[in-house]
Amino acid sequence: MLRKFIAYYRPHQRLFWLDFGSAVLSGLLELAFPLAITLFIDRLLPLGDWSLTLVAAAALLAVYAVNTVLMGIVIYWGHMLGIEIETEMRRRAFAHLTRLSWRWYDRARTGKLVARVTRDLEDIGEVAHHGPEDVFIAVMTFVGAFALMAALHPTLALITAAIVPLTVWLVAVYGGRMTRTWQEIYGRVGQFNVRLEEAVGGIRVVQAFANERHEARLFESDNRAYRATKLDAYRLMAVSSAVHYMGLRFVQVVVMVAGAGFVLDGSLSTGGFVGFLLLVGVFFRPLEKIAAVIETYPKGIAGFRRYLALLDTEAEIADAAHARPVTALRGEIAFDRVSFGYDATRPVLQDVSLSIAAGETVAFVGPSGAGKTTLLALLPRFYDPDSGMIRIDGQPLAAMTLESLRSQIGIVSQDVFLFGTSLRDNIAYGRLGASEAEIVAAADKAQLSALIAALPEGLDTLVGERGVMLSGGQKQRVAIARAFLKNPPILILDEATSALDSETEREIQAALEALSVGRTTLVIAHRLGTIRAADRIVVMENGRVQEIGAHAALLRQGGLYARLAG
Ligand code: ADP
Ligand code: MG
Repeated sequence: MLRKFIAYYRPHQRLFWLDFGSAVLSGLLELAFPLAITLFIDRLLPLGDWSLTLVAAAALLAVYAVNTVLMGIVIYWGHMLGIEIETEMRRRAFAHLTRLSWRWYDRARTGKLVARVTRDLEDIGEVAHHGPEDVFIAVMTFVGAFALMAALHPTLALITAAIVPLTVWLVAVYGGRMTRTWQEIYGRVGQFNVRLEEAVGGIRVVQAFANERHEARLFESDNRAYRATKLDAYRLMAVSSAVHYMGLRFVQVVVMVAGAGFVLDGSLSTGGFVGFLLLVGVFFRPLEKIAAVIETYPKGIAGFRRYLALLDTEAEIADAAHARPVTALRGEIAFDRVSFGYDATRPVLQDVSLSIAAGETVAFVGPSGAGKTTLLALLPRFYDPDSGMIRIDGQPLAAMTLESLRSQIGIVSQDVFLFGTSLRDNIAYGRLGASEAEIVAAADKAQLSALIAALPEGLDTLVGERGVMLSGGQKQRVAIARAFLKNPPILILDEATSALDSETEREIQAALEALSVGRTTLVIAHRLGTIRAADRIVVMENGRVQEIGAHAALLRQGGLYARLAG
């Protein structure tokens, strides 16, 4: 894991060394200041030379100024290093998320995913910046300060060091507990996000069932659990900072008393005494650093683990090595003994075989849950069959790159997803980079012209989150316009089951008929009009194809279709 982490520093080596070098230099200066004070008191003061004193003061000020600059570098460029790494990770996480398969998303919780890409990576960024220098400098100042103390007065240094293990032990105990508490807090925040996502995302359902109070109760229980854990953390923080503070003061007082004794017996100079007291502060500072590290590291490490887990999640459906891009398919489709289930226990499609000629319109009918939507989801490879083979123009789907395969298939589904942008942008999503004229033509063919003319801002009208400002029929026509722009040889239509008003239905019907001209069209049909207009009808039940034929022939057969139609 560490190796993977270090790899992220590689592109930013110069930034790293600038930050790290400045931090080390600044740490050394911190160590040097107590010595400077010692020399000042012991050597300069007795001389009684004011001009020399002023020179020393000016020198000290200059060194302080240098240290200020160094600290500024650490704060700005050090954080820049963290941000660079965070940005790179976020880019990869997002790109990876966009490639993961439907099967994975079927089980994912959006709130947690959002937390991963935002908060987790922020924590990693913090560690990426503070990590290396904090640990190194903590050790360096700890050892350095002790060495200097020993040089000033070995016995006093030993007395000081004798008390250290106790302090270290206390810091470690509280640090460990703090770590666990923070991990718990993080779990709770994830829980929180999930709840928030669902309640806000589903607000229309919440209100339709007047379940606001129910949601508020659920939220409140998460909210209280979060509060309790956070309070635990703060209690720990209070106790550990009290322990830390008292520990340091205790050591200082001990050093003061013992040091006074050594000054009196002449083994320690006054300047040495003052310098020593200052060094005690420097000596203990790494402990504070380590306490801070103990707080931020677990967050960063936990975040990095989750990040790695996300990146390690393989997209189940990805290009095979032999996949080639395809263009301009004719649209001849063959399902060959295809079986599929969302999970191993329950087959949803069983042994489906079906050949569709290029340009043919095939209607799929059957009871709800028969597997119609699932069957058509296999064509763009949103899922892969468990067994059997699907071919287009005689080529297995896996022989084509995913991107090119999907570029050949247009989909108009029941629940159209619109982005919260303008009508124009939503239509143009069908083919990014389409010209204004092409967008207008597509809208026109999708029977959207009248709507656009009626809107004060026309194509620039914002459609609201998920397109809430449009009706179901309007959204569907936007989807149709997208498909016109895309202009694919194969078309998948999932007709709306809900009864659109007859005016809208006629408009949509006309738009769909225009759209399907010259394309292989697979339509999950609910309207008699669509069914009759199809070249052939596939009747499905329980994941199997039961009957195939034209409307009249199927009626005459007197099977499932005749029963459904009657
Ligand atoms: P139809 O379109 O004919 O109404 P579907 O293909 O939507 O049928 O569904 C077929 C079966 O698969 C149903 O039993 C449904 O519950 C199940 N199903 C559909 N989508 C999923 C999914 N994403 N995960 C698990 N099961 C699913
Ligand atoms: Mg369906």
